[in-house]
Amino acid sequence: MLDSQTVEKLILRYDSPVPRYTSYPTALEFTTLEDQELQKSYAQCNREKAISVYIHLPFCENQCLYCGCNVLLSRRKDILDRYIPLIAEEMRIKTAILGYKPQVSQLHFGGGTPNFLRLPDWDIIFRELKKYFSFVPDAEISVELDPMYLPKGYLGHLRSLGFNRVSYGVQDVTPKVLEAVNRPQDIDLIRRVVRESRDLKFSSVNIDLIYGLPHQTLSSYKYNLDFIREVNPDRIALFSFAYIPWLKHHQRRLDKNALTEPSEKLKIYLAARESFASFGYEQIGMDHFGLQDDTLTKAFREKTLHRNFMGYTTQKTLDMLAFGTSAIGFVSGVYMQNHVKLSSYRNTIETQSGWFEKGYVMTHDDRLRQEVITMLMSNFSLQFEKVEKEFKIIFTDYFAPELEKLQEFVDEGHGVFTTSGFETTESGSFIIRHIASVFDAYRKVGERKAFSKAI
Ligand code: SF4
Repeated sequence: MLDSQTVEKLILRYDSPVPRYTSYPTALEFTTLEDQELQKSYAQCNREKAISVYIHLPFCENQCLYCGCNVLLSRRKDILDRYIPLIAEEMRIKTAILGYKPQVSQLHFGGGTPNFLRLPDWDIIFRELKKYFSFVPDAEISVELDPMYLPKGYLGHLRSLGFNRVSYGVQDVTPKVLEAVNRPQDIDLIRRVVRESRDLKFSSVNIDLIYGLPHQTLSSYKYNLDFIREVNPDRIALFSFAYIPWLKHHQRRLDKNALTEPSEKLKIYLAARESFASFGYEQIGMDHFGLQDDTLTKAFREKTLHRNFMGYTTQKTLDMLAFGTSAIGFVSGVYMQNHVKLSSYRNTIETQSGWFEKGYVMTHDDRLRQEVITMLMSNFSLQFEKVEKEFKIIFTDYFAPELEKLQEFVDEGHGVFTTSGFETTESGSFIIRHIASVFDAYRKVGERKAFSKAI
């Protein structure tokens, strides 16, 4: 393992904003999208192939100050009486345009706080889903939950509806940090919730943590690591706190003086990596860790991991139908984002027009670069032949200028060219976003403030 001084030097050298590449091209390239793209892209959907479905549930009762999501704050549950029917209507309209009942192999609910929903709301959603979609027998059905809002019987009900994966946003367990970010939590309750998830036989229980939050120090972070060792989730997502107050105005309420210094933040990250390894976790792509027999861990080892808006997955870029405010779908090479404002979203459904907040129609070159960047971000490696076969190109010809840039990373010891392509070294894994950006046709290094820093 690299020592902290070496990593610190490396991070300082690459201390510039860089995309996380949850999509390529990144959302910054999204622009106005005409309604007709909906029909055009859906018409090209391959009905033999299963799809993903994403449903965005934007409501939260409380504003966590670190949050970077699209959220609607509300304490009134009756807002759901108007929102759920909109989702149902959106499913009806869009599957009618599709013209068949698609098979779903992945269904994910994100937010917001999906468990803002009352149990009967879930029954309605699943009843509607079953009208318009059929599910493959081993479909992954996952949800992000706030462990603080799970009344008795809630989890069991979700399990009975077919949920088999659950992610808990824990972020930190120390009271001082939680108070600073306005996220009250009862850690004993979280322990109980994780235990209950295991008893209910969810096949995957994940915990999300954030490093770099105000008041976190290397010594305070030990409590988070102890917590992970104790509850032993199947996967851990360890996200770097992105301080972007110019984009997320509520972050201005954070005490700037309490923010973790970059060098301390790095020490925390390294300590977490080391501890997770000692607890039996392997790193999966960027900032995720899984137990050794986890399907994603195995896929990473076998270099077959993929990535989409929902995160890492074993299933290669499926078309994704997305429902709800701000949800981003991806069908036949077209990114389509729904309206972010609830009133605009409602208007869209009611008028069946003006569908998109924004979107993007990919070119052939975009799709090729998407494949390459996804390979790097998921597996820290490139297999030239796979790309050549799929896109009918000679990799070394098509990407000659990019390979020259990649050579610079190789010269610095961050990667090696192999007989089948390229692989990062351990140091390269710390700067994978920079390495991937070599293949980004839209990006000039250091030019954009909209992205977070790599660590
Ligand atoms: S619960 Fe999650 S989505 Fe809601 S404000 Fe907090 S971090 Fe953001």
